[in-house]
Amino acid sequence: MKYDVIISGAGPSGATLAYHLARAGLEVLILEKQFFPRDKPCGGGITYKTSRLLDFPWENAVEDTVRTMAFNFRGQRGVTVRTAMPVAYMATRSKFDELLAQQARSAGARIIEGAALEEVKLKDGLATVSAGGKTYQGRIFAGADGVNGKSARLLGLYNPVATGPSLEAELECPPRLTGHFRGMIKLDCGALPWGYGWIFPKENRLSTGIASFSRKAKGLKQSLKEFLTREGLENTRIISVKGFPIPVGGGKKTKIHCPSALLLGDAAGLVDPFSGEGIYYAIKSARLAAEAILDHKSDPERVPGVYQDLVDRRITAELTMVRRMAKVFYSFPRTAFSLIEKNPETAGRMLRLIYGEGKYSELKGAAREVIRMIASSKKTTRLRF
Ligand SMILES: Cc1cc2nc3c(=O)[nH]c(=O)nc-3n(C[C@H](O)[C@H](O)[C@H](O)COP(=O)(O)OP(=O)(O)OC[C@H]3O[C@@H](n4cnc5c(N)ncnc54)[C@H](O)[C@@H]3O)c2cc1C
Repeated sequence: MKYDVIISGAGPSGATLAYHLARAGLEVLILEKQFFPRDKPCGGGITYKTSRLLDFPWENAVEDTVRTMAFNFRGQRGVTVRTAMPVAYMATRSKFDELLAQQARSAGARIIEGAALEEVKLKDGLATVSAGGKTYQGRIFAGADGVNGKSARLLGLYNPVATGPSLEAELECPPRLTGHFRGMIKLDCGALPWGYGWIFPKENRLSTGIASFSRKAKGLKQSLKEFLTREGLENTRIISVKGFPIPVGGGKKTKIHCPSALLLGDAAGLVDPFSGEGIYYAIKSARLAAEAILDHKSDPERVPGVYQDLVDRRITAELTMVRRMAKVFYSFPRTAFSLIEKNPETAGRMLRLIYGEGKYSELKGAAREVIRMIASSKKTTRLRF
């Protein structure tokens, strides 16, 4: 059988693409290395803007709804912002991803679990894909197998984008603290260079961790230990600790297509370099890929180029703006944090960006303010952005 589209990976990007294509009547196959339910190191923060991309009931995967964000700097000082709108929903990735995969299956996609991608050959408008010891054929191949997946390398599209390290620790939430963390995300903006520490509430658990968006970051274990100690969680039982890279995007247009093939989500390096949010961009890139494929059903050769153009305009342009912002913020985190403290309105604006009501361009003014403050306090640096 020849498929219209073969997808490697059933994470948020692969499952979303399969769902939209199968629903439109295309023959879709997903080859997934693992078996569901499978884990993915992730805070599981599904922002409000991401929720607007989900057009089926997914509330069963939600463990908490966040309307309060508490920011501090190395445990000191702090700004707490409360919003009427939910900033984010908290989900456990094993449940959330299984639900997305189930939606794709119900729409008619075939998912083969335990089928790790081995080889992709592209010739004369045909993708011949080997996985789990078998070979399949399709008109388009979509690589959605994440930052550690094989697609990008096999297609010769591997871009060593700035990949930052992270360490996630899942903790048993002490009953005395359950109420304290309910409905609230805590971020420590000075927990490590070019990144932050987080505490996300889950049902009976806390997802904690630290992430840096610079590949130079070192000593993550120690930074995580210090962060948890500052938050009074040093004696809490650790359920699991996992390290995982985060492939941040923006800054330059990277090639994420070749004839008959596309890359999506983390495999394409589409993660926000300021917040580390990737689920939104995984789902968004899948929807753009579905748009390109469905709009050019009779002329599939055009699909990869059209998809690249859509991603450049609707994702990379925004991530490039975010990267500039991140550069200012993370180069001078203490000063940037003071600015937020003195102007809680800025924190409110940052939240609107995170939950998806505003545009990152709104923060340009705030970034200029940071530069002015730094220039007047140090009289040295001149930054351009
Ligand atoms: C510690 C941490 C915390 C994070 N927290 C958040 C957060 O709170 N909110 C947020 O929005 N983003 C967060 N992210 C980013 C987010 O996890 C990713 O951006 C998102 O999972 C990308 O989705 P994806 O579908 O592109 O890839 P993935 O979710 O990585 O899915 C890839 C799929 O491909 C499969 N696969 C891998 N290799 C192969 C192969 N060879 N063959 C076949 N299948 C394969 C995998 O098993 C997996 O199912 C976090 C990331 C990290 C590391």
